[in-house]
Amino acid sequence: MTQEELQALVEQVSLDSFGKAFRHRAVFNARLKTTGGRYHLNDHHLDFNPAMLQHGQEVFVGIIKHELCHYHLHLEGKGYQHKDADFKALLAKTGGSRFAPSVTKKVTVQRYQCQNCNTVVERRRKINTNRYGCGNCRGKLLWIDTRTLVR
Ligand SMILES: [Zn+2]
Ligand SMILES: [Zn+2]
Repeated sequence: MTQEELQALVEQVSLDSFGKAFRHRAVFNARLKTTGGRYHLNDHHLDFNPAMLQHGQEVFVGIIKHELCHYHLHLEGKGYQHKDADFKALLAKTGGSRFAPSVTKKVTVQRYQCQNCNTVVERRRKINTNRYGCGNCRGKLLWIDTRTLVR
């Protein structure tokens, strides 16, 4: 997504979900590490974390809505902070995200161990151990556990 596409997307989401124009700048800021976006009270521009795009368009639009809640409420002199009732109500109404998803990706895997050579195999889905054997020795795999990994 280019800078211009981001600007156009924020303007579109503002019109579609808030019925109001976004009249300032929306920019990518790669220095944002754990937050999805940031609203600047002084000049009203919005920063967005480009790493959040990895979560897909729907999640990213949720982040845009969250930042637009800060933006519109602040400009209208209403409660624009997370703790404010105005903010909570507008966030719920527009379907904005409550928290930015983490940049690191969590993956749940099924772990199997070969009964013959003890190799541990990770798979995203459960496998039929009667049909699929160990990649090394074709030995019988036994399910061990399910783990959530951070990648
Ligand atoms: Zn916020
Ligand atoms: Zn094996």
